[in-house]
Amino acid sequence: MSKVLSLSSKGNLLKIEDLKETKGYIWYFMTEEVMKYVSSIGLTEGDIIEFKSEEIRGEDTIIYIKKQGGTVAEFKCIKCGKALKDGKYKTCYNCSMEAKEKEQSSPDNQHKQDSIEKQCALKASAKAVALVFQGRLTTPDELATAIGIVYDQIVKKFNS
Ligand SMILES: [Zn+2]
Repeated sequence: MSKVLSLSSKGNLLKIEDLKETKGYIWYFMTEEVMKYVSSIGLTEGDIIEFKSEEIRGEDTIIYIKKQGGTVAEFKCIKCGKALKDGKYKTCYNCSMEAKEKEQSSPDNQHKQDSIEKQCALKASAKAVALVFQGRLTTPDELATAIGIVYDQIVKKFNS
């Protein structure tokens, strides 16, 4: 249990008593979800809280908070509403993974993939033509097969 000493004017920092510190307190950052909870219950100076912090981007940040005698901080996934164990992330694991997958199959990424494939095709053709000049390939069929093999190898290299 810890005592809240003050809340910054912007509402993004919480000064919490810590007698292990020589100055007697620590200023903590809060995740957006924790900030929402803190303002929704009107947390103020002198309140006793339970909290968990973690270093996020080099700053001590509160990821979970509960006011003594108050309601439990409820952290929910903003997409599906599933309860989260703390306020570190806005979405649950499943929704985060889904968002990632969507991003990967977005037109932008698709376009990138297409242009990589075009580059591969060009490189494969150039390599095959070089083989023809070296006299190692003679028929169009051999040439096509060689392009296919080289193309596969290059695509593999790009995607590895
Ligand atoms: Zn979710």
